[in-house]
Amino acid sequence: MGGDGDGWTDCGLGHRHWGTAGAAGLLLTAPDDAGRPCVLLQHRAAYSHHGDTWGLPGGARGRSEDARTAALRETAEETGLETGAVRTTTSYVDDHGGWSYTTVLAWADRLLEVHALDRESTAVAWVLVEQVEERSLHPGFAASWPAVRQLWAQELRNSANSSPGP
Ligand SMILES: [Zn+2]
Repeated sequence: MGGDGDGWTDCGLGHRHWGTAGAAGLLLTAPDDAGRPCVLLQHRAAYSHHGDTWGLPGGARGRSEDARTAALRETAEETGLETGAVRTTTSYVDDHGGWSYTTVLAWADRLLEVHALDRESTAVAWVLVEQVEERSLHPGFAASWPAVRQLWAQELRNSANSSPGP
């Protein structure tokens, strides 16, 4: 269940973070019409923590909730994503000491329909992976993006190598 991890906490690196049990975000990838990989980004409202920036949909984990469940639940709440059309593979943990952010890598066969449903998000958009860094990014997302992208590229190659037979 979500909700019981809501609240601010301080990490070992001296930041304040939302989510007393840590937080999780969904890095969802799908090909556009030309087959180019896009990822789902969320634009957060100006008044929110590190607002007016782009990041991953997601949020606080419940105390007994795994990162995958939290990332899918939060993304569904925020964007209306049909999570049944998504498969998750691996994840990347950014551990700050006493608080961690887990990026859950997920994949879809097409650009699924999404909407900004949550009052904290002003927009959601499918963004070409090549163009992610051109956006004004949430500092946490920006910091982990190089490492996450490396893992992401590995996963993309793996999935290409394991394409289903006839
Ligand atoms: Zn921190």
